[in-house]
Amino acid sequence: MVISEKIRAIAAEAERELGAIFADIDAISEKNTEKVLDAFREAEISESHFTGSTGYGYGDRGRDAIDAVAARVFGAPAGFMRSSVLMGTHALTVGLFALLRPGDVMLSVTGRPYDTLTEVIGIGGATGDGSLSDFGVKYEEIGMTAEGAVDVPAAVARIARSTGEIRVVFIQRSKGYLSRPTLTVREIRRICVAVKEAARERGIAVPYVVVDNCYGEFTETDEPCSDPGTPGEEPVDLIIGSLIKNPGGGMADTGGYLVGSPRAVELSGYRLCCPGVGLDAGASLGQNRNILKGLFYAPHTVAQAMKTAHLAAYVFSSLGFRVSPGPFERRSDIIQTVELGTPEGLVGFCRGIQSASPIDSHVSPEPWDMPGYSDPVVMAAGAFVNGSSIELSADGPMREPYTAFLQGGLTYESGKLGILRAAESVIGNGGAPYDAF
Ligand SMILES: *Cc1c(COP(=O)(O)O)cnc(C)c1O
Repeated sequence: MVISEKIRAIAAEAERELGAIFADIDAISEKNTEKVLDAFREAEISESHFTGSTGYGYGDRGRDAIDAVAARVFGAPAGFMRSSVLMGTHALTVGLFALLRPGDVMLSVTGRPYDTLTEVIGIGGATGDGSLSDFGVKYEEIGMTAEGAVDVPAAVARIARSTGEIRVVFIQRSKGYLSRPTLTVREIRRICVAVKEAARERGIAVPYVVVDNCYGEFTETDEPCSDPGTPGEEPVDLIIGSLIKNPGGGMADTGGYLVGSPRAVELSGYRLCCPGVGLDAGASLGQNRNILKGLFYAPHTVAQAMKTAHLAAYVFSSLGFRVSPGPFERRSDIIQTVELGTPEGLVGFCRGIQSASPIDSHVSPEPWDMPGYSDPVVMAAGAFVNGSSIELSADGPMREPYTAFLQGGLTYESGKLGILRAAESVIGNGGAPYDAF
């Protein structure tokens, strides 16, 4: 790989400076690995759990064991983790349709949710495609403050005015494609206390608190649904995420999870399958081994991605680019943004990442008009699993300030090489237009 001495020197400096942070990340990974192994032991995971089932899938011991392990690892009483959940957006759709009824209000307290949920919710009105809005579920949102925090007083005030119509309070943990800080587990559990107390004080039905947990899993030693055991914090009712992100550990071929309180999980099972059957059915089609192996790897893999993100922040801020979070900031998700400032910079960045990928390293990303997006988007993805973003990947819209959203890295070594190739590609060419690469 062509990587200049200058960039290799910045990387060496970065690794010296980030040593203490890398050690902390290893400690988090070890603690989470301990939780995973404890859950495996408790469920007596063995070779027979890898056997797939067909048809209804009744009596699929592996599937049921994975559900129990997922709940235990995330510290909650119930949950499921299955290949029949197709992606993060599907998992979120299952959870929202499971809990919301006609006339109910879904209140998002982290502003506009992730792009793909717009049509699921039917933001802006009925879609005719079966959105929540088509079924008479109303949607309201409370924007984040100027500092990028949740406006808890506004959320509490809204509940104090409620007559019980707010059934779901929705929190997105990670920044997604927004420029705001990611919420920590602690912050999420405090918001949970505030909204539930407001409902109890008013004497109305206490809303479910639901968290879009995508990209957050295993970045801390707890999840928003685990019981903190401390006053002033309360676990949320449901956390939801994708297996081609953090908890799949780069091993799961597909899947998603919903974990939380028994009733929220039971209702979600009815929506995944059908009322009356719920989680008792579902052929696992030979995916049990991948899911278990992925969960085993996930704490370690997430640590690799976190180190890659810190390194990217250090290298690109040394080169004079604005990055978020900063190189020494603690994280609660695996997303790193780098403001490249120019179209050439953003495309060059993605080309650098692509050139160091294990798959499709010979192709050169081009911006394209992706359906549903207002500006052309450029993406780097050279992954073993289609669309996997626990594997090193980057993308960004072709508009000011030409920000790359970077995440993943199955191994720190490959993640590092991707970052160094991106740096080389952005500055090594003397700012030549990207056509010249
Ligand atoms: C990725 C993501 C989703 C959607 O997940 P898909 O698997 O792409 O459908 C939702 N919310 C957030 C915050 C995400 O990062």
